[in-house]
Amino acid sequence: MRTPIIAGNWKMNKTLPESVAFVKELAPALAPYTSVERVVGPTYVALAAVSEALSGTDIAVSSQGIHWEDEGAYTSQIAPVMIQDLVTYAIIGHSECRAYLGETDEEVNKKARAALAHGIKPIIAVGESLEQNEAGETSSFVGGQVRAALEGISAEDMPKVVIAYEPIWAIGTGKSASGEIAQNIIGGTIRAVLIDLYGDEVAQKIRIQYGGSVKPDNMAEYMSQPDVDGALVGGASLKVDAFTELVKIAA
Ligand code: 13P
Repeated sequence: MRTPIIAGNWKMNKTLPESVAFVKELAPALAPYTSVERVVGPTYVALAAVSEALSGTDIAVSSQGIHWEDEGAYTSQIAPVMIQDLVTYAIIGHSECRAYLGETDEEVNKKARAALAHGIKPIIAVGESLEQNEAGETSSFVGGQVRAALEGISAEDMPKVVIAYEPIWAIGTGKSASGEIAQNIIGGTIRAVLIDLYGDEVAQKIRIQYGGSVKPDNMAEYMSQPDVDGALVGGASLKVDAFTELVKIAA
């Protein structure tokens, strides 16, 4: 059985004091739901303080990105060694990073490998645009993103990898994919690619999340799908009540 994982991607929200105050309120609210892996993803500047505030709890911290080099002339970037003691996860390949920061499939792969090499578990986000969706290209595009992201990653490392299917047209739009659509891509495409690359036994261990306008009122629909193992959540992860409700539904 795969443990569901609900991760909050805070994006560019919450100042340092707001982040700390938030997790101090969130941690006790999430404490009862131990059957779900619960993750928060603050901005880089808040990682150390949030990690400290959550020490002694079982709530994990994720960074929203990572670089593949250990150091060097990469203005604005954060090396794995700088965050490896602060985080359990790193979100890689988010469509906003692909769109605004030009993150390529090749970079996503380098970042995923670097994360694993430093004991950080990658949450690899994939997803198609509205145009690709309407052109019937979703499965081939998303399948290609998954294959590219996992190039050179061993079967042994794969259980540490989480994949998030986030259709771009559903992110922050309130227009979520139906549970059936999420299941079709997550089960029919993504897990099928994982089976092809790593075999059924390994593929069945890997968690695949849905992301895109996940709210308390649609969460149950996703969690009832056999291949959907949780959610990567933006807007609804910024409120204690809403995030707690999502975790409760997944528990
Ligand atoms: P929303 O939940 O705000 O649609 O964001 C989804 C997302 O991009 C999470 O990474």
